[in-house]
Amino acid sequence: MTTPEKINLLGLDRKAMETLFVAWGHKPFHARQMLKWIHKHGVTDFAEMTDLSKSLRSQLSRVAEVRAPEIIVEQPSSDGTRKWVLELVCGNRVESVLIPDGDRTTLCISSQVGCSLDCSFCSTAQQGFNRNLSVAEIVGQVWVAVHYGKLCTKNSGKSPYDRALTNVVLMGMGEPLANFDAVVSAIDIMQDDLAYGLSKTRVTISTSGIVPAIYDLKKVSDVSLAVSLHAANDALRDELVPINKRYPLAELIAACKAYVEGDNRRKITFEYVMLDGINDSMKDAKALIRLLEGVPSKMNLIPFNPFPGTDYRCSPPERIEAFRQKLKSSGMISTTRKTRGEDIDAACGQLVGKVQDRSRRELRSVMVKGETI
Ligand code: SAH
Repeated sequence: MTTPEKINLLGLDRKAMETLFVAWGHKPFHARQMLKWIHKHGVTDFAEMTDLSKSLRSQLSRVAEVRAPEIIVEQPSSDGTRKWVLELVCGNRVESVLIPDGDRTTLCISSQVGCSLDCSFCSTAQQGFNRNLSVAEIVGQVWVAVHYGKLCTKNSGKSPYDRALTNVVLMGMGEPLANFDAVVSAIDIMQDDLAYGLSKTRVTISTSGIVPAIYDLKKVSDVSLAVSLHAANDALRDELVPINKRYPLAELIAACKAYVEGDNRRKITFEYVMLDGINDSMKDAKALIRLLEGVPSKMNLIPFNPFPGTDYRCSPPERIEAFRQKLKSSGMISTTRKTRGEDIDAACGQLVGKVQDRSRRELRSVMVKGETI
């Protein structure tokens, strides 16, 4: 006889947790207690949850568990960045990176094992795609950083730690909007005051531009949006970010405008990887200014991080600076991303993990809310 799998409570947002307690014949307020124990206090053993009755605790230990992803490697970088390699039940690995910078501490997390989008300059693309991460595996990366990495959160009370987790970005491995439901639910937990209490401006999803999912996101979440643009014309973007063939620039820009509509303080962050001789000329900068006219935006230039097997090179620093100045002269807020954690391969686009590729590369498909793209 096989034992039925226990429910991992780490992956339940407040609504799902309340539904579960009610289904078990208990009062919904236990969901609040449970969220606090797991996410605020980092407790995984039901026996330590002292404000729950003994009978509830023993019922829980029979049918449920709080299981965080297993840390395989923790790598500190000389610049203070830390990378965690986490092993999932299936033996696949994903990576998350903690980046302290002044009084800001940002955690970069993954949403899929590998990626199916095949962007030509991204090392994750080289590994193919295996599967979506579950809610528990996404939020588990935050749990590990806070409770294993000893960070306080906005609502930790008298925390002995002096560094707080201030921001989470879904900019690790995978395309977050191709794992829509799990990502939205994980973000609910990150934003919940009983868990990590991160506000809408402090959690950012980065997308390659899956247009229908951007419209869907606006209906269910107020999270900040970053869009990987990388080119100002369709011909070049088709090559760099192939999903552009399905959702070209005009449609993407319209979706971006719609996302921030109704709140004039909100902006889309556009990411633009600086590739030597490919997308870094003054002509490209002018095209970018024209493309983004009327879009409330910030531009983040990312120096390309090379990886074995790539023919791309990073633009020289003076060209990146000239590009930034050109954008700035048009009134666009533009910054150049600092490369962090280079000595531990934790820089943008370098997260590798270990992926058993289940995608048939010639038949690549991504599920977006039931639609195959
Ligand atoms: N799929 C999401 C998140 C991926 S990674 C997306 O496309 O936005 C986050 C950012 O890193 C993206 O802007 C991505 O284009 C960029 N990136 C990927 N590989 C890179 C590399 N080798 N050097 C610099 N940036 C890279």
